[in-house]
Amino acid sequence: MKIAIAGAGIGGLTAALCLHGKGFQVEVFEAVDTLQPLGVGINVMPHASGVLHGLGLGDTLDDTAIRTRAIEYRTRFGHLIQSDPRSVEAGFEFPQYSIHRGELQFLLLDAVRRRLGAGTVTLGKAISGFSQDEGDVRVLFADGTAANCDLLIGADGFRSKVRQQLHPDEGPAHYEGTMMWRGANLQEPFADGRTMFIAGDHNVKFVCYPISGRASHEGKALVNWVAEVRHDQPRAADEADWTREGDRDFIASFLAFQMPDLDIAQLLRNTHKITQYPMIDRDPLPWWTRGRVSLLGDAAHPMYPIGANGASQAILDAKVLAERLAEQPGPEGLIAYEAIRRPITTNVVLNNRKAGPERVLDIAAARVKGPEDRIEDLISAAELEEVAASYRQVAGFVRKAV
Ligand SMILES: Cc1cc2nc3c(=O)[nH]c(=O)nc-3n(C[C@H](O)[C@H](O)[C@H](O)COP(=O)(O)OP(=O)(O)OC[C@H]3O[C@@H](n4cnc5c(N)ncnc54)[C@H](O)[C@@H]3O)c2cc1C
Repeated sequence: MKIAIAGAGIGGLTAALCLHGKGFQVEVFEAVDTLQPLGVGINVMPHASGVLHGLGLGDTLDDTAIRTRAIEYRTRFGHLIQSDPRSVEAGFEFPQYSIHRGELQFLLLDAVRRRLGAGTVTLGKAISGFSQDEGDVRVLFADGTAANCDLLIGADGFRSKVRQQLHPDEGPAHYEGTMMWRGANLQEPFADGRTMFIAGDHNVKFVCYPISGRASHEGKALVNWVAEVRHDQPRAADEADWTREGDRDFIASFLAFQMPDLDIAQLLRNTHKITQYPMIDRDPLPWWTRGRVSLLGDAAHPMYPIGANGASQAILDAKVLAERLAEQPGPEGLIAYEAIRRPITTNVVLNNRKAGPERVLDIAAARVKGPEDRIEDLISAAELEEVAASYRQVAGFVRKAV
């Protein structure tokens, strides 16, 4: 059985590896002529990192990425509101990794080329659409050529052409009203060199974590950051480009942030390349699969990058897709895959619109008014744990008892 995948992103490449592991023949068609290590930091949550370990990529991840110890939620004054552990030491079977998106993509691409063959991924092949009958799928490309396969998986990201053909009346994306500026700077480590923190509140927020295993082995840190400022009301919007150069006006919003272990203003000023990207998602779809065609990753369930779940949910899709197709190799397998993954990811998309685990920031911002305030006088531990535990449940990762 030959399976075509549209898109050599994190989801498409992981799907290629998982499907190959189950004995399927796979071809990946990627729109861009040359893959470049674009983007900045991304997180692979413990359950998704288990999938990558299962694919034999654990050692490479340990060389390349950072094993995240915990996500700390902090006030803008630097108080620790809550520390949400993510490590093996804290009871997860597999670690959370913080990694450069481009490095993760290239690590997967390398594994695909070595295991499935150098010709498995064809670059410069943008899918423009498809036709299908009971027997097979004809994949149509923007260059006027076509290819036949048994199944087609649209892993072609936020602007998926496969999704567009399946749901032509969907309309524009949903903009939260928040702009995100991103960058990374090589410098001295902060905290223990394995900590991710999220500080501020829903309107002005700073997310920061180290992403390079290589830098860490040399006693340095490649510090990835995302600065978010809400400046608009939620509305329909479609303009977004991961490579758009960011302005620097937003830095003013973060000058008053006081972290005990990191000078945020200096980090922002020292960062050479800054990009900006709006916080956008799409409404969950009522279905993903028609006949021999289905969707995966951002093409299926684009979500706000809250709870750092975009890459992880794409990786989990890939695993379930391969498992279900191994049991039922054909359209029934696609239906079985969707039956498991669509309800789960729908829940994550909707929960992220309500700020997911970051709700603790707004609880604290409403009560903590200055650096002298004491968190423990203002918020109970039980209230905080309830938010974290309910999101772990939604996103699907749980700790063993420790
Ligand atoms: C350039 C870029 C930079 C990013 N940077 C970040 C970041 O810094 N931080 C972060 O959290 N997330 C980032 N993301 C998003 C993140 O990668 C995804 O949310 C997540 O990894 C899910 O992956 P995915 O494979 O579903 O989608 P994506 O990673 O978006 O991959 C989709 C792939 O499909 C290809 N494609 C698109 N249209 C077609 C077509 N018609 N035919 C064939 N191929 C097509 C794209 O070129 C891309 O390689 C970035 C995405 C991109 C594309």
